[in-house]
Amino acid sequence: MSKNTDELFKNVIAHAKEYGFVFQSSEIYDGLSAVYDYGQFGAELKNNIKTYWWKAMVQMNQNIVGIDSAIFMHPKIWEASGHVGGFSDPMIDNKDSKKRYRADQLLEDKIARYDQDGKTDKAELLQKDLDDAIKADDLERLRELIVEHEIADPVSGTRNWTEVRQFNLMFSTQMGAIADDADKVYLRPETAQGIFVNYLNVQKSGRMKIPFGIAQIGKAFRNEVIARQFIIRMREFEQMEMQFFVRPGTQKEWFEHWKAARLKWHLALGTDAAKYRYHEHTKLAHYADAAYDIEFEFPFGFKEVEGIHSRTDFDLSQHQKFSGKKMQYFDPELGEDGKPYGNYIPYVIETSIGLDRMFLLTMINAYEEEDLSTEEKQDSRTVLRLHPCLAPVKAAIFPLTKKDGLPEKAREIMESLQLDFNLQYEEKDAIGKRYRRQDAIGTPFCITVDHQTLEDNTVTLRHRDSMQQERVPADQLDKIIGDFVSW
Ligand code: ATP
Repeated sequence: MSKNTDELFKNVIAHAKEYGFVFQSSEIYDGLSAVYDYGQFGAELKNNIKTYWWKAMVQMNQNIVGIDSAIFMHPKIWEASGHVGGFSDPMIDNKDSKKRYRADQLLEDKIARYDQDGKTDKAELLQKDLDDAIKADDLERLRELIVEHEIADPVSGTRNWTEVRQFNLMFSTQMGAIADDADKVYLRPETAQGIFVNYLNVQKSGRMKIPFGIAQIGKAFRNEVIARQFIIRMREFEQMEMQFFVRPGTQKEWFEHWKAARLKWHLALGTDAAKYRYHEHTKLAHYADAAYDIEFEFPFGFKEVEGIHSRTDFDLSQHQKFSGKKMQYFDPELGEDGKPYGNYIPYVIETSIGLDRMFLLTMINAYEEEDLSTEEKQDSRTVLRLHPCLAPVKAAIFPLTKKDGLPEKAREIMESLQLDFNLQYEEKDAIGKRYRRQDAIGTPFCITVDHQTLEDNTVTLRHRDSMQQERVPADQLDKIIGDFVSW
């Protein structure tokens, strides 16, 4: 990360805290690692991102419906899905510092250092060795590579490493009063399984015909070994997932469809297309026959924001096996041979986006420290150029002064608009200062009520991006704002 991008990232994190977007969880107790709270504007922005996703996926597609399944599920679900046996990261401890690391991450960091030092041959070789070891699930080899490349613990500085072990990422707890392994339940590490186990309930109660999709937004929990880069890797986070059920044999075309549709969703927010790229998985998960990530260029490099996976009939078949219940769908449509397709287990295309990563992406993209200096004076502002639909506050209303009936008039205007838009009323400080505060949280409009308003019912409307001001009738505000911030 260059100094500039490093600084940009730090500034965005500081801004997110200062303006009530994201706080470290349990801050007064020195924080809880990799857990974050969303503040007053963060919660609004997050909700708006959810709405944008829900509208695009559920409201705009007649064959996709949304559900809200519980976080706790029967423990057998996680055996069937493969999470009990296989959802783990290779981890290594340093015996001196007692610190725990992801073995693959230590090696990735070393590769980055080789690259930085211009040792590209070494970097390439180690990358290949690492890929081979991961592909073969060879934990001993990972340790050998750490030793061979003389990787020292950044804390203790020593190379006194333990063996590499697999560390399961699922959190578990006990359900009911008795602490007994039979009552062990997990906090879900993904929302997808709540959709799979309900797919026939939804299909039957909604009389859905294949192809159809089920969408869900909800919390997921992973005991990540190392947590870093702010809200990129959290232990409690939120996912927006959609499982699309298709006829076997059609999965390739639906995979292509959703791969393209999901990137379009991102770009419709006006983000520079050069900031996005697809990344094809070469090592596929046990359930997948194709997988692509949509990556975004964060200040620290390209990172996965969303995964599009062709999951075959793996999950539904597993649930059929583990639950003993039929998971087949009856397809009445006629095939080329004139007979109904009949019973089969559908194939699934999944789109899975991390809401928190989308949140960070949105903040980083919108954040600008703008130089407004003129020959006469130095000036600058920090502005969040958020898409108006995503902005936490749509308009701020300011009485020019605190007297002469201006606050009353401003509140009257606010009351006529607040059912439709999230608004903020502010009367403290000079107007210029109030503008800056709204710029910093990304409010697209500021409305100022002055003495002229009392005479002709017009107000000054100030635009966030251009900082232009215009005089408009107060009774047209709902149309002007509505046209701008509507989806
Ligand atoms: P990564 O490789 O970065 O760990 P993943 O491949 O495990 O991610 P998926 O299981 O495909 O991720 O989950 C789908 C999405 O959920 C990811 O694209 C990401 O946006 C988000 N996500 C996954 N893990 C976390 C986490 N610990 N914190 C925040 N978001 C996460």
